[in-house]
Amino acid sequence: MRYTIRLGMTQSYLLPGDAGYLLIDAGPRGRADAFFRALRRYGIDPGQIRLIIVTHAHFDHVGSLHAIRQRCACPVMIHEAEAGLLSRGQVVLPPGTNPLTRRLIRLANRHPRLIKRWFRFDPVRPDHVINGPLDLAPYGFNARILPTPGHTPGSLTVVTPAGLAFVGDLAINTLPAGLGPYWPPFGDDPDLIRAGWRTLREMGVTTLYPAHGRPFKAEKLPL
Ligand SMILES: [Zn+2]
Ligand SMILES: [Zn+2]
Repeated sequence: MRYTIRLGMTQSYLLPGDAGYLLIDAGPRGRADAFFRALRRYGIDPGQIRLIIVTHAHFDHVGSLHAIRQRCACPVMIHEAEAGLLSRGQVVLPPGTNPLTRRLIRLANRHPRLIKRWFRFDPVRPDHVINGPLDLAPYGFNARILPTPGHTPGSLTVVTPAGLAFVGDLAINTLPAGLGPYWPPFGDDPDLIRAGWRTLREMGVTTLYPAHGRPFKAEKLPL
C-alpha cells in the first residue's frame, strides 16, 4: 500500500517494499510529530521505514529529516550534488522561473540572515550518496532512482515499474484542475527541467507525484 503524507506545504510519500517502507522527502521544519501521527494512523511503526530518499536539499524537503531519521533509525540517501548542503544545513534559494518569483528571490537575497533563519534546518549526514541512476532492488524496493537535475543540480526522481514517478519539485501541481503549467516556481535550469520531463515521458512514466500538489498524468506535461 502506498501512502501520501501531507507535511505543511510539502507531501512525502511512503512506498512499500520487501521488509518495510521507503520514505521520499521529509517535509518542512517542525513536522515530525505530524509525520509520526500519520504513521500511527496507517498502522506503521517508525522502525518499518527502511530508507529515506531526499529528492533535493531544500528546506521544505529536509526540515524535519533530522527528527524523523532519529526515530526511524534508517539510512538517508541523496545525490552527491546536494549532500554537502544537507550535512552543513546550508540554505540555498534557487532562482525564480517567472517574473514574480525572480523578483521574490532578488528581494530575499538582500536579506541573507533572515533567509537563513526562516528556512533553517538541522544538518543531517547522509548515509548513501549517489551520483547516477540506481536500482533500489538491493535495498528491498521495486523501484529505481533517476537523477533529474533542473530544479536543483542534484534533484532525484523515484520511478516504479508501474510507471509512477515521485518527482520532488521537478514539477508541481498546486493550481485547480487543469489550470496552469507544471513549472516549479523556482529552479536552476528550465532547459534541464524540460529535459527531465521528456525523459520521464519517453521511459513510459504514466503519472507524476509532485511534492507540491496532486498527482497528474504525464501526458499533461506541456512539452
Ligand atoms: Zn525545491
Ligand atoms: Zn519543494
